[in-house]
Amino acid sequence: MNHNHSAPPRGQGRFGLGWMDPRGRNETQLREEVLELLWTLREGGKDRLDDILQSSPEEDLEEILGAMERDEWIGVQNGKVTFREEGERRALEVIRRHRLAERLLSEVFELGETDFETSACQFEHILSPQVLESVCTFLGHPPVCPHGKAIPPGPCCARFKRDVEPLVRPLPDLKLGEQGRVVFIVPKTKGRLEKLSSLGLTPGSVVRLAQKRPSYVIEIGETTLALDEEIAKEIYVKRV
Ligand SMILES: [Zn+2]
Ligand SMILES: [Zn+2]
Repeated sequence: MNHNHSAPPRGQGRFGLGWMDPRGRNETQLREEVLELLWTLREGGKDRLDDILQSSPEEDLEEILGAMERDEWIGVQNGKVTFREEGERRALEVIRRHRLAERLLSEVFELGETDFETSACQFEHILSPQVLESVCTFLGHPPVCPHGKAIPPGPCCARFKRDVEPLVRPLPDLKLGEQGRVVFIVPKTKGRLEKLSSLGLTPGSVVRLAQKRPSYVIEIGETTLALDEEIAKEIYVKRV
């Protein structure tokens, strides 16, 4: 019995070898863009097919969703789109690559937002899994992209590999008297983040580590702050 006789066989739709869209993207690239779109919409609580189709000007969106459904990357049921195992795995990879590329471009090359956004889109397609692990380690396994969106952790983040000297590291890793620019803060509570920012401690601010014991003392401009070790460990800096 074959309940699927109406669906075209895999790889036989309008997409195929050598197919390109008007923007010069092949099917793989287009699928990656769409996986990224689905993931981002899901973060915003949107999983309805109607919302997805309206959210993007992508011309081939409906067709590519159909192809991905046939390949069992996604499921469409009751007007809702969900990732299946294969789609979830691939989407996670794409998102991780894109957001790590953004972090890399903004931290290492200190590019402004528009520059790193366009470059990240090209970068994400060329980073191999091995390079990506080194990039993640080098950046101190960042939990968020420069826009504050979550970077899904990879195998390297669990292993805490230390064979690459990280560029971005927790504040307590600074030596006494050293300066660092705050790259991101990973607070246990949201209230803590607000408290720190009211004290002038936000991503971008430059701090100097003045004391480690009995508590951490840092200087930001004219201000001196004492911090518990637990909080100090939540602040990630890049040496300046
Ligand atoms: Zn981002
Ligand atoms: Zn990592």
